[in-house]
Amino acid sequence: MAEENEVTETFKGLGVCEELVEVCDSLGWENPSKIQVEAIPHALQGKDLIGLAPTGSGKTAAFALPIIQSILESPKASQAFIACVLSPTRELAIQIAEQFEALGSGFGLKCAVVGTPGRLVDHLSNTKGFSLRTLKYLVLDEADRLLNEDFEKTIDEILKAIPRERNTFLFSATMTKKVRKLQRACLRNPVKIEIASKYSTVDTLKQQFRFIPSKYKDCYLVYILTEMSGSTSMVFTRTCEQTRLLALLLRNLGLRAIPISGQMSQAKRLGALNKFKAGECNILICTDVASRGLDIASVDVVINFDIPTNSKDYIHRVGRTARAGRSGVAISLVNQYELEWYLQIEKLIGKKLPEFPAEEEEVLLLLERVTEAKRISQMKIKESGGGKKRRGRDDDEEVDRFLTSKNGKSFKKSKKH
Ligand code: AMP
Repeated sequence: MAEENEVTETFKGLGVCEELVEVCDSLGWENPSKIQVEAIPHALQGKDLIGLAPTGSGKTAAFALPIIQSILESPKASQAFIACVLSPTRELAIQIAEQFEALGSGFGLKCAVVGTPGRLVDHLSNTKGFSLRTLKYLVLDEADRLLNEDFEKTIDEILKAIPRERNTFLFSATMTKKVRKLQRACLRNPVKIEIASKYSTVDTLKQQFRFIPSKYKDCYLVYILTEMSGSTSMVFTRTCEQTRLLALLLRNLGLRAIPISGQMSQAKRLGALNKFKAGECNILICTDVASRGLDIASVDVVINFDIPTNSKDYIHRVGRTARAGRSGVAISLVNQYELEWYLQIEKLIGKKLPEFPAEEEEVLLLLERVTEAKRISQMKIKESGGGKKRRGRDDDEEVDRFLTSKNGKSFKKSKKH
């Protein structure tokens, strides 16, 4: 992470004590991340903090290191229950506990309750002897999500049970009205730190999604591409086979599509790329691997025909459009099996996307023709040996001939008939 933040500061330079610098070293953290550079010195001085920073920025250590340092510096007797970190989900709570333990277990640090705010309140009211009165640090992590999940009342109860004399760190991916209210209620003269996510997307990029059953995906793709027929588009799929099938299907419908995948020889890939660059084909169908490192100027539209399982791939994909101040559109087609991955993407980019507007009835007018085109394309691929070599002959040839033939009828004009 540190190598992507142009930061040359050291943990030592931020005021982190020697023992903890050694732990960071042992974890392989060469330099502090941006949020750490901004937050740690203030936190060590006892200031309240509000940090706008997404997950992945290193924010956990930005609050964990100062807290652990303060535990190390305080006399043994007061090393009781020092800090409370509230997070919106159990999974996140576990991750935070793991980082605290990675940093502090060598000094005997232990995490007591790992769970959501509700679990903490439960302990407060039902566990004998459980108290938060020795607390010196309160961390509200992912505050926007905490408040979305209706933890407001629970947080109020926790605030009543902890000392007013304390340090509070509030982290959030976005600044919402509710977060501002929470900030006013529990922080004192906070230092505000804002770190643009390296995963944030540019403002000139219009991002949309559409939930659709997988059986209609092809149909939606064709609909979008015909609606945007004057644009250059990149369509991302998960597998090499799919790039071929989709390219055939689209060409069968008269669209100028060309696939590029890791299964193709270097020469063929280059050929496809040149066709796309020269404008001979205006739709490039590709996988993540094949598209990486391609020197392609900005395209108008990126379509995620398959939702990437790794959310960072989403950022790479949509980064193909809206470059250098130009505008662009990214549309994600999400089926019933991809919802979880899609939600991960929204989390990473820190926003909820609007829905791609389309009348389903109008889209489904294309269904019959798209289904037929798919049947023909599947047959072609089967006939050509499914892309596998047979008796030394390049069986891709026939498909290639088909792909490069000019026999596609104009689809757009006839689609509503
Ligand atoms: P977070 O944003 O807190 O979820 O952290 C993301 C990941 O970055 C975690 O796996 C940390 O272990 C790691 N990390 C935190 N700080 C650094 C650093 N300074 N250098 C390298 N990795 C780090």
